[in-house]
This record gives sequence, structure tokens and C-alpha cells, in this order.
Amino acid sequence: MKTTRDYPVYDVIISGAGPVGLFLACELALAKCSVLVLEKAADPLSPLKQLPFGIRGLSSLTVEAFYRRGLLNELELHNRLKNPHQNAKQGPRRQVGHFAGIPFHEGDIDPSQWKYRLPGSTVTSLISEMQEIETVLARRAASLGVTIKRGLAITGFQQTFEGVKVQSGDQTFNAKWLVGCDGSRSVVRKACGFEFAGTEPEFTGYTVLADMADPEKLSPGRNVTPTGMYMQSQPGYVLIQDFDGGVFHSSEKPLTLEHVQEVLRRVSNTDVTITKLHIATTWTDRARQATAYRNGRILLAGDAAHIHSPLGGQGLNVGLGDAMNLGWKLAATINGIAPEGLLDSYYAERYPVGAQVLDWSRAQVAIMKPNPSARALYAILRDLINTRDGATYMAARVWGINTQYNFGSSHPLVGRSVPNFELEDGVMIGECMHNGQGILLDFDGNASLKKTAAAYGDQLRYVSRHAKNCLGISALLVRPDGIIAWAADNDPDCKELQQAADRWFVQKVE
Ligand SMILES: Cc1cc2nc3c(=O)[nH]c(=O)nc-3n(C[C@H](O)[C@H](O)[C@H](O)COP(=O)(O)OP(=O)(O)OC[C@H]3O[C@@H](n4cnc5c(N)ncnc54)[C@H](O)[C@@H]3O)c2cc1C
Repeated sequence: MKTTRDYPVYDVIISGAGPVGLFLACELALAKCSVLVLEKAADPLSPLKQLPFGIRGLSSLTVEAFYRRGLLNELELHNRLKNPHQNAKQGPRRQVGHFAGIPFHEGDIDPSQWKYRLPGSTVTSLISEMQEIETVLARRAASLGVTIKRGLAITGFQQTFEGVKVQSGDQTFNAKWLVGCDGSRSVVRKACGFEFAGTEPEFTGYTVLADMADPEKLSPGRNVTPTGMYMQSQPGYVLIQDFDGGVFHSSEKPLTLEHVQEVLRRVSNTDVTITKLHIATTWTDRARQATAYRNGRILLAGDAAHIHSPLGGQGLNVGLGDAMNLGWKLAATINGIAPEGLLDSYYAERYPVGAQVLDWSRAQVAIMKPNPSARALYAILRDLINTRDGATYMAARVWGINTQYNFGSSHPLVGRSVPNFELEDGVMIGECMHNGQGILLDFDGNASLKKTAAAYGDQLRYVSRHAKNCLGISALLVRPDGIIAWAADNDPDCKELQQAADRWFVQKVE
């Protein structure tokens, strides 16, 4: 970190120490950038981040991201919490996800359709908790030298040609770049004038922890009713969707016991009685996405860039995907080793992923609406999801198994997350990614590939070893975020490799 005038200059200031801001901070610090995270909340702990409110389903891509940075073993909650839903079954009928409240079951999924998932792959999904994720990431960030200042909300900023002057009340901080990871109501997004385009809500969602006189009046599991949906996953812990056009959520009226009870009674069509309201929050299915993720030296990631209903649990996963994608690109830009257009590829790759997630949540809302057409569609979807192909499709979408960026290559692996190859010495390729370097993986020991990799200095690590199952591949170029940039089935062409590498890395000057 350099000091000019009165203020230290950071490479990057991140607004928000949520999971996305913290993951991004770790990625930048791993690449030796100086990072300051400013967080509005003084206390990192909150009942809303703890179970049951803070429960979060992590997708396959998120699990891989934690694994590749050596953080997966630090997420421990899932070991203690094999079955967070009291009513969930075990065995083949175990519910492992849902679409619009229609469950899909473990035994219906056919993983043999996922031909790039090797036996040593990390799990397809994992239960975690906001507090656990933030604690693990904050600890890693601190160990990498990131400064986190809590109780300091960003209130404004000025962008110049050289950097950004960031205000938090009467304090000023300087940085070369500012990234808004400050959630759905992002001050950075609003103050920078990013357009936030999308659709208005259909419902107000409620998450409620309450004492009830007669919780048994509520049916177990997810219940789609003529006015909405409710689910009691443990006595007194209830999710409700009330199709009020999102009016209550927008009104910002206080959440009283009387109001929650009225909504729950109406949606569940019971006369259940709430005796004490412990905690309640509301949310909606408003779906909006920034039409650009960058304005000069200001960038957006996570909920600051896209919001949608939490149905199907995707927001955190897509946000962490943003952070994994942006981290190394912004670091390379700061470190002067970014090829032309590298930073712009962040938006080009992540906008379509965010847009797909918004549509995924809209599709669910469309069939949950309390009207006859939606009911009819719901019934058809339920039948399809109960088939093997249907459940496999749903699981692949929800867990991000087939996510692929379009790099214009005809090779089926290019643009995908690298399979977790087990090398001949037992080392897994995901374990070689802890330091955030790109990797040239050469299964056939081709000397000319080694020479090509050397041209990119320490941006590229050359790994030459046979794999137990190389999926018929001879060599692969893997970006720091674990995405395959180039692949050859046999006789790798060094010219092709170099062309691909030049798109993501800069050749070192002798
Ligand atoms: C009920 C519910 C269930 C969900 N379940 C899932 C799930 O299972 N799986 C999933 O993938 N997603 C889920 N989500 C969505 C997920 O929680 C969010 O997408 C995720 O938290 C976004 O992370 P973030 O870091 O972008 O934003 P946030 O988690 O919102 O963090 C933003 C941070 O910025 C801080 N901040 C705000 N303003 C400022 C400011 N001006 N200056 C400095 N700091 C500021 C905030 O205090 C906060 O710490 C769920 C959401 C809800 C509501």
C-alpha cells in the first residue's frame, strides 16, 4: 500500500464484507493487491446469519471454489448438520433441492449424464450458513493482509482518471479501484448511476421464527396453496409466500405478530395461533440486474449487481462466482499483466450467468402463482421433475454442473470448470490451485508445451504428469479461476495454445 498526501492508497476498496466482498478480497490479496473492505455493520454476527435464518445451499461451483483455495475443510457446519430439515427423508427419496417447491430426490438423479464429473470431484452441493461462510472468509482475508473496517458505511465517492476517493461519513479513503459488494440496496450501484433493469415482484416472502400454540395445524413440507406457499421446516420456523404484488415488503411497515399471523392463516388456510414472534424478515421476487458491471474504476459484484427471489438458493452462489471471476482479472489489471480486454470479459462472462439465474427464479414464480393456468403448468412440471431425466436436469441447473462460458471453441471442455483430475502421484488438480496461478496441465509430457508455458512466467504453472483418468485429453490450459481456456485431445498444437494463452495472460518480457 502506498501513501500519498494525507491518505494511504489501496489498490482496491471493497464496499461490504458480505460473502462476495470477502471472497473477492481474498482473491485480490492472493495476487498481492492491497485491499480495504469497508463494512456498514459494526458487528459481524447477527441472528439472521445464523441457523435457521442463515442457512445457505452451496452449489457445485461454489464448493469447487472453496476447495481450490484450500478453504473447503474450514466449512464444518455440514458435518454437524447432516439433515437440517426435520421432515426430510434419508436414502434415495432424500430431497436434495426443489424447483418452485417441487422437490427432486437423490435417487432420481443420474450422475452418469455428467460425463466430466470424475470420481474425485467435490460434492455437488453443501449446506452452510452465512455466518460460517463470512467467518471463514474474514479469517482468510485477515491472514492475507486485507484490512477490514467495520461500522463504516460508504456514503459517497468521487472517481478520477487515476483512482477513487471514497467517503464514509467524515472519513476519506483512496484507492485505484472501488468494487460495490454492498448487497441489493448497493450505495455504490446507486451513486454511480448503474441502470438496474428488471421486473417487479409478485409476492412478499416471510421468514419467521415464532412460538405457536398449535404448530401441528400446519402441514409438513412445502405446501403450495391457493394464495401462496408455506413451509414449516421445524416447529415455529416458517417460510411464507404471499402473492400481494410485493406490497407489504415495499411498504417497510413494521412486522408485527398480528400481521404475520394474519398472513400465515390466510396462506395456510388454518387458524394456527402465534403466541410469540421471535424474529421475522421479508423478501420479494423482484428481479433486477445491472446492465453494466463496470463504470471506469467502479465495479459491481454479487447482490449489488443482481437481485432475484431466493427460490432455489442461487444468489450467493452466483455472487461468489462473480468474485472468483473478477478477482484474478482485476488483480492482473492492477499488476500490469492483463491482456487487452481482460477486465471487460468479467461482464461478458458473468452477465449471462446472472441473467439465467434471474429467469430461473422468474420461471418458478410463474408456476407458483395462485391461478388455474399456473396450477396446470405446475402439475406438468411436477410430473417431469419426477422422471430421471427431469430430476437430473433440475439438479444440474441448480448445482451449476453444466455451466460453460462461450469462448468460441468447439472443444466441449473449453469454458467449463476443470474436472478434478487425479494425477498419477495421487495429487488432485484442484489442490494445485491454492495460490491462484493459472495451470498448463500436460498429461503426455510434451516438451514444447513446457517451453510455451515458460513464456508467461509465474502466471502459468506447468504441471506434467499422467492422470488416472484424463478423459481422453492430452493437455489443458486452466485459468486462475479454474475455467478451462484451451484443451487438446491429442498432438497439442503450441500455436493454438499460445493464441489461447495470450487471451488471458501476458508474455513476460525478457
Ligand atoms: C431467505 C433467503 C435465503 C437465501 N438462501 C440462499 C441459498 O440457499 N443459496 C444462495 O446461493 N443464496 C441464497 N440467498 C441469497 C444470498 O443470501 C445473497 O445472494 C448473498 O448474501 C449475497 O451476498 P453479497 O455479499 O453480495 O451481499 P450481502 O450478503 O447482502 O452482503 C452485503 C454487505 O454489504 C454491507 N453494506 C451494505 N451497504 C453498505 C455500505 N453503504 N457500505 C459498506 N457496507 C455496506 C452489508 O452490511 C453486508 O454486510 C438467500 C437469501 C435470502 C433472503
